[in-house]
Amino acid sequence: MTAPPAHAAAPRLCCNSGSLPRSHAMLEMRPHCECCGRDLPADAAGAWICSFECTFCDDCARERLHGTCPNCGGELLRRPTRAAALPRKYPASTQRRVRAEPCPPDAA
Ligand SMILES: [Zn+2]
Ligand SMILES: [Zn+2]
Repeated sequence: MTAPPAHAAAPRLCCNSGSLPRSHAMLEMRPHCECCGRDLPADAAGAWICSFECTFCDDCARERLHGTCPNCGGELLRRPTRAAALPRKYPASTQRRVRAEPCPPDAA
């Protein structure tokens, strides 16, 4: 087994550096919608988050919550996806959090 050359070890991950430091702030990428529990994989589009990373699926964020986080009242924005190859090095969260209170009804 031969070690690869140092310059080939780290793939270019983002625009400002060849690698991400351990302390690099990253989204937690919660694995599911807090309202309905639907799975929201880190590499799939269709998840919405607020600035605290309360995480919701497309249906809940738009039709039920109307773009506003029910936990903190903040704006919900589309969560960026994480490249499927990255979770091995930068794993998405597997911690499932569910709201203590039910989400507002559809006709809010
Ligand atoms: Zn949902
Ligand atoms: Zn929130």
